[in-house]
Amino acid sequence: MNILFLGTGTSTGVPQIGCSCAVCTSPDPRNKRLRSSIYVEASGTRILLDSSPDLRQQALRENITDLDAVLYTHAHVDHIGGFDDLRAFCWRRTGGLPMYASPETMKTLRTMYGWAFESGKARTGYVRPEPHEATEPFRVGSVLATPLPVDHAAVDTCAYMLESGGMRLVYMPDVKSIPEASLERMKGADLLIIDGLRYDLHPTHMCLDESLAAIRAIEPGQAFLTHLSHNMDYRILSGRLPENVGAAYDGLRLSLP
Ligand SMILES: [Zn+2]
Ligand SMILES: [Zn+2]
Ligand SMILES: [Zn+2]
Repeated sequence: MNILFLGTGTSTGVPQIGCSCAVCTSPDPRNKRLRSSIYVEASGTRILLDSSPDLRQQALRENITDLDAVLYTHAHVDHIGGFDDLRAFCWRRTGGLPMYASPETMKTLRTMYGWAFESGKARTGYVRPEPHEATEPFRVGSVLATPLPVDHAAVDTCAYMLESGGMRLVYMPDVKSIPEASLERMKGADLLIIDGLRYDLHPTHMCLDESLAAIRAIEPGQAFLTHLSHNMDYRILSGRLPENVGAAYDGLRLSLP
């Protein structure tokens, strides 16, 4: 399983418009963060997790040309705003583009992008969604995906556990707390990618101490923090992390053997 970080920033991206703080003006490319999303490839199966408002730029940067499915964690705009850029991927395939989301998230997608979902309005050239309301494990090619509900203190949200070749990846970019049933399923994952917004407490996201506590509870082989704000300087943050935890950055590639 190969994992590529398309974006690792919080909803504003980093730099933030109009901000002149040390991180926003930093020359370190690892402090430049597009909105959070990852691309996973496993034995020829290509999965996008969330379509960020920066999707076009991310796909061009990484030469991503084809997708087998899009998995949505929740319907905040920093995770769905690139929906219309999925058109290009639809043009390169026959049939619709499979999209998986919780019933609540799918309802929001249908409301926001009704022109693509309503057969009477859809036109050639539009995004062609093949919607799946996912509450149970499902298969996309060689990957078994399990949606795991988490508490983001805002909208209905899930993490995804992806399994392939005996390896388990958990992607959880937006989370405030993890219900016990979901936590049990995540335990011992080979790779955990988790919300690490900032140092101070936040009402809808984990702060660093909460993320590290969740990592200790899940005991993954390796963990990476994502959805980072402009409070997080890559070098300073990296220096404060335990040995099996890293700070993700845009363009970072990981692979699980
Ligand atoms: Zn977000
Ligand atoms: Zn800033
Ligand atoms: Zn969110």
